[in-house]
Amino acid sequence: MKRIILKPNEKKRILQGHPWVYDNEVDRILDGPASKPGGAGPAKLGVKDLIPGEAVDVESSRKAYLGRAFVNPHSKIIARIYSPSKEGVDKGFFKHRIRDAIERRTLAGGMALDLHQDSARLVFAEADFLPGLIIDRFVGWPLKDIKNAVTLRPLTFEAAEAALGPPQSWLAIQFLSFGMDSRREEILAALEEVLEQDGFIIPDDVPLGKCAGVVEKSTAKVRELEGLPLQEGLIRGNFPAEGIIIFENGLPFMLNLIDGQKTGHFLDQRDNRRVAAAYVGAGAPAPAGNEPPVLRVLDAFSYTGGFGIHAAAANPGAQVICVDTSAEALETVRINAELNGLGGRVSTEEADVFEYLRDAERRIKDPEEYYDLIILDPPAFAKIRSALEGALRGYKEINLRAINMLKPGGVLITCSCSHALDETRFRYMVTEAAADAGRRLIMLDFRRQAADHPVLVGYEESLYLKCGIYRVV
Ligand code: SAH
Repeated sequence: MKRIILKPNEKKRILQGHPWVYDNEVDRILDGPASKPGGAGPAKLGVKDLIPGEAVDVESSRKAYLGRAFVNPHSKIIARIYSPSKEGVDKGFFKHRIRDAIERRTLAGGMALDLHQDSARLVFAEADFLPGLIIDRFVGWPLKDIKNAVTLRPLTFEAAEAALGPPQSWLAIQFLSFGMDSRREEILAALEEVLEQDGFIIPDDVPLGKCAGVVEKSTAKVRELEGLPLQEGLIRGNFPAEGIIIFENGLPFMLNLIDGQKTGHFLDQRDNRRVAAAYVGAGAPAPAGNEPPVLRVLDAFSYTGGFGIHAAAANPGAQVICVDTSAEALETVRINAELNGLGGRVSTEEADVFEYLRDAERRIKDPEEYYDLIILDPPAFAKIRSALEGALRGYKEINLRAINMLKPGGVLITCSCSHALDETRFRYMVTEAAADAGRRLIMLDFRRQAADHPVLVGYEESLYLKCGIYRVV
């Protein structure tokens, strides 16, 4: 086994849990174990002697053992530690790791997800000790079968199960590091055995149903930094051409793993969507005999309407407009609105949110017509730290304009999924936007990603999603 010896003072971050070794932290690379007394030392190697994807041992300058890693000599992240001990990587290793990750998600008192119904991220890369591997599992039925067999609207999980039998599942998988990409067959074999093993019963005695298909979605730009091509497509089983229906917080959503962005549905906002809905008139029934008061909701960067559909379903007075630049995503919003029986209360507009908000400020002069709730959930404006200043200007602009457009007492739900932007700076950006708008905000809640996207302590990159909920006074 080759050994990477770090420069002095480079071990602290790794001992705190950070799994990456950067190329400029490497002092030397040795071929094989330390020599016996009197024998010749191990040969010194260069970076070019490392084979992409191979496992090596990482040691401090004083030869303290730090862990075993996959290497990639073409990346600035030259090694990703996958184990604190001298663990080998074979199918058994992957089975063990995947099973541990699933158990963390299903444990009562832990995440307590019910994998019979809940779609979930089963593996979140470094934070599940599988650097660069992401696996999302979606549970539901083909859209076509639902359309043919279940007319009930709003569609419920129970009605679908009564008509179509137990749900099926599909996986979306991303190989984002060379170490994982080069072991894809072992990973797929391990996954198959873990998910289909007879004995694998999730805690509430529900066996995991058969997985109908696996779709690769290795389209993240980080692949290019690893020297890997972007690629996607069906790699096992089938995926229905029309898409599938999953249920989130009891509400049906359509997704298509073959055409959708990233993994087809952003699972990390699951809990924040549920909480967001509670701020739309608190979900209270309308007084008898009265029309419910109209509540105006703007779901900006809506994608397939995750937040907007939750808001409309929670309150019969909510009138939601979903704004996104993607026509395909908005087409899915309309399907989701129909499945949820929301009729004309969810509309869509294909527009750039920056322009939409600028235009709204010009157009809407009467504060009575301002919004009751605005959700801002943009894509990551800062993918890397050096892009942070420009990104902050973008975040501040949309937040300032949204604050301007809220009624007194209205609620702003503002998110950022850039890991390069930490919570403190994000909150300060909101502070500045409120000051520029000349309005006072009260923070009602400050949230993060759902727990099936765990945060590994010491690896700040894994704490990426911020979701602030503020009331405008
Ligand atoms: N809120 C969504 C996820 C949003 S992902 C959910 O709950 O599922 C970000 C979305 O922003 C994508 O759908 C993308 O198409 C859209 N987008 C990116 N830049 C945009 C812009 N300038 N204006 C409007 N939409 C944009």
